[in-house]
Order: sequence, then structure tokens, then C-alpha cells
Amino acid sequence: MILFALITIVTFLFMEFMSWFTHKYVMHGFLWVLHEDHHVPQKGTFEKNDAFFLMFAIPSSLLMIFGSINALDYRFFIGLGILLYGIAYFLVHEVLIHQRLPWFKRTNNVYFRAIRKAHKVHHKHLQKEEGECFGMLLVPMKYFKEASKSAKK
Ligand SMILES: [Zn+2]
Ligand SMILES: [Zn+2]
Ligand SMILES: [Zn+2]
Repeated sequence: MILFALITIVTFLFMEFMSWFTHKYVMHGFLWVLHEDHHVPQKGTFEKNDAFFLMFAIPSSLLMIFGSINALDYRFFIGLGILLYGIAYFLVHEVLIHQRLPWFKRTNNVYFRAIRKAHKVHHKHLQKEEGECFGMLLVPMKYFKEASKSAKK
């Protein structure tokens, strides 16, 4: 059981790396056509950028299905780790940062403020090139320091 929990946690952490990597080299690379409307908002509820959720949802659900047909095996927990990361990503990126749903509007938590700041810096760049702050849940230390400094005032 501990092993399965570990697999889930490691997958979750690995997904932060994957999302950083995908964001930097794929979304701001050859799939910029899908990510562009996230930086240059267009009308409508959905963004082409949402297609990236599907891209991670497919392997995740396949792993969970095949990893649970007979008995639960490691594949199920890899799929679970991806799913949990997807949920965390959705809550942080779509809800907390971009407010696509009206939840937790008034959070003043230092970590959340640091995340928001870092992602704002990412969105300053409207172009494919020369971006910064491609990660999501892991924030560069300097934004933490800024956020906790301004919290103390
Ligand atoms: Zn971007
Ligand atoms: Zn973005
Ligand atoms: Zn964003």
C-alpha cells in the first residue's frame, strides 16, 4: 500500500515537471496554435488551450482502466497521480488564477499569492517566444519572498 501511495505522489511531482516541459517546449513550441488563445483571450467559454486537458486525461484514464481490470496494479496509481495533478492544475490555474469559476476569490495565502504573481509574469508575454515562469505549482523563490514581505505590512 505504501508503494502505491508513493507511486501516486511521485507521479504527481513528475507531472509538475511534465507540465513545465510541455508548456515551455510544446505549448510555446509547435502547438502554439492551441495555446495562443490563452495568452491572447478570445470570446467564448472554452479556450483551444483546454485541449491540453484532454491530452493528459486520455493516458490517465487508460492507465486507470487497465490498471484495475484484474486487481489494482501500479498502472492505476500512475493514472491516479496524473488525475490528481489535473485536478490541482485546474483548481490553481483555471479557478484561482484565471477565475473561470467564482470560487475562493478572497484567498490571501502567501503561497497562492506567489503562484498568482508568477503566472501573471508568464502572461505578460503575449508571444510564443521569450516567456518565463512556465511552471505551475512550484514557484520561484523570489515570488515567495515578495509575497511574504507584502503580507507582513
Ligand atoms: Zn503560456
Ligand atoms: Zn499559461
Ligand atoms: Zn494562464
